[in-house]
Amino acid sequence: MTGETKPRIVVLGGGLGGTVAAYELRETLGDRAQIHLVSDRPAFSFTPSNPWVAVGWREPAAIQVELAPVLARKQIRFTASAAQRLNPAENRLELTDGSSLPYDYLVIATGPELAFDEIEGFGPQANIASICTTPHAEEAHEAFERFCADPGPIVVGAVQGASCFGPAYEFAMILDTELRRRKLRHRVPMTFVTPEPYIGHLGLDGVGDTKSMLESELRNRTIKWVTNAKTTRFAPGTIAFDELRESGDPVPHELPFKFAMMLPAFRGIKPLQGIEGLVNPRGFVLVDEFQRNPAFHNVFALGVCIAIPPTGPSLVPVGVPKTGFMIESMSTAIAHNLREILDGGEPKHRATWNAVCLADFGDGGVAFVAQPQIPPRNANWSSEGRWVHLAKIGFEKYFMHKVKSGVVEPAYERLALKVLGIEKLQAQVAEPAE
Ligand SMILES: Cc1cc2nc3c(=O)[nH]c(=O)nc-3n(C[C@H](O)[C@H](O)[C@H](O)COP(=O)(O)OP(=O)(O)OC[C@H]3O[C@@H](n4cnc5c(N)ncnc54)[C@H](O)[C@@H]3O)c2cc1C
Repeated sequence: MTGETKPRIVVLGGGLGGTVAAYELRETLGDRAQIHLVSDRPAFSFTPSNPWVAVGWREPAAIQVELAPVLARKQIRFTASAAQRLNPAENRLELTDGSSLPYDYLVIATGPELAFDEIEGFGPQANIASICTTPHAEEAHEAFERFCADPGPIVVGAVQGASCFGPAYEFAMILDTELRRRKLRHRVPMTFVTPEPYIGHLGLDGVGDTKSMLESELRNRTIKWVTNAKTTRFAPGTIAFDELRESGDPVPHELPFKFAMMLPAFRGIKPLQGIEGLVNPRGFVLVDEFQRNPAFHNVFALGVCIAIPPTGPSLVPVGVPKTGFMIESMSTAIAHNLREILDGGEPKHRATWNAVCLADFGDGGVAFVAQPQIPPRNANWSSEGRWVHLAKIGFEKYFMHKVKSGVVEPAYERLALKVLGIEKLQAQVAEPAE
């Protein structure tokens, strides 16, 4: 299609999913394909460490890696330019630098567009802190330092339609830990506001005992909470929300704050929105069991940008999170499926979508394993303790090393996953004999 001798695979998005996918494609395909990563930012950012940036526990530079030199070592081309529009019928990506990039295969990993505009007065530009991107977390840190000079109430949580709850809990507990260290906690009433039907639902209908673990963490830290909350608007220093009762009746609330961080709902990025057959009405990329788009068979997608239906009905809309290990399993499936296709076959590899998550609280944390992510599950386990904080630091160091070295699954990761019985690919079902 591109007219070159080797097929060109373009990976769009240089975040957690796209970077791992580019490396994994190189490792799985060797030199059989050109691999070209396109991202709107020159650097990779390790999003899970953003809460630490927001309280000053990490410098932003410590969780970022310039992509061009590390990708070049693996013969992966890199273009730092945003996608302007995708034209999947012509296998072409228009970039904001004015160029047009043809591809044979496209792997979309563009993460979320943050839907702050869906609620009046919401977003970092309106002084509601965000930890969704590293630049946002940097701004949140400045706001947090100003807050510490003149403390007052804090509101943390997520708004309706959000699909990422772990970081909201993490951030509430991390703020509590940091404020206690600064001997300011006694001056800060804290409230956790969430659309989840119960604490610890996490968009996953809970994992193991996350309900009682997270409730007791919040109680131990004197953080009040409101569930089934639908945020109606933010005004300077106030959040207004309705708490929905089972009857559907709204109970209106208004809470004052001097510092607030609420996770927004996500949607697909603009260059993909409205493309018939490619995306759902919110702009999330439709994929089949092989991570492939059903309408455009040379397009694959992974990570936060893909469409996954909610786990079940809830009074207030709650989305399903797409977590790191789950995203890596999608990357593995895509790399293996593209190898099948280049060999003249059909894709047959399915990601496990297992969720393995560490929620750090600064002085402890909660870990959970959901296999598969959507219930009912074969493994449904959660645990807590100081080890989670240490494990999260280890995870950050390990992932940063992975991005810098381009080795997607070092031997010790393979061994650890084997010991824990966690797989990235589903077992192949044997074809019936003819
Ligand atoms: C604050 C926070 C903490 C989290 N913590 C954890 C955790 O501890 N553990 C866990 O498992 N998961 C965690 N997650 C969930 C998930 O793992 C991350 O969101 C992860 O970064 C998602 O990877 P992704 O590749 O889908 O998206 P991203 O990492 O967001 O990458 C998307 C990439 O696409 C680029 N892009 C966007 N638009 C364009 C465009 N138009 N053109 C070109 N490039 C574009 C972006 O710049 C970015 O580089 C967390 C999420 C958040 C928000």
